[in-house]
Amino acid sequence: MTHLPLITPETRHFWEGAGRGELLLQQCGDCGHVYFPPRPFCPRCASKNVKVFAASGRATLYSYVINHRPPPGWPKEPFSIAIVALAEGPKMVSNIVECPQTPDALALDMPLTVTFKKLSDEIFVPVFRPAERAS
Ligand SMILES: [Zn+2]
Repeated sequence: MTHLPLITPETRHFWEGAGRGELLLQQCGDCGHVYFPPRPFCPRCASKNVKVFAASGRATLYSYVINHRPPPGWPKEPFSIAIVALAEGPKMVSNIVECPQTPDALALDMPLTVTFKKLSDEIFVPVFRPAERAS
């Protein structure tokens, strides 16, 4: 279980939200900055007047690399390590799922939707899948 993220007092609300299928972000009540990862004060102005809210889950693919050498215990197929830009502004490191892990399939700026991958009873990590395109 060495790959599990550590739950700390500062991140507990985030993991509890993920367990409910919510991607929680924080917003500063003083300067309006929206940020991730969770911390008890605003990284821009250091205000402690911050609130937690559930993000829309919409994002676009900002950047990625394809890892051809998964760590021990992971599936042997190549997998993407992606940076996604959330609709609310913050970027986060994640994985793209339900999509071939190839440069042809992983187009920069492609629309994505958050989904959650269960790693343990407490840990559901946010990953992203291609969004259904409105037609
Ligand atoms: Zn602020």
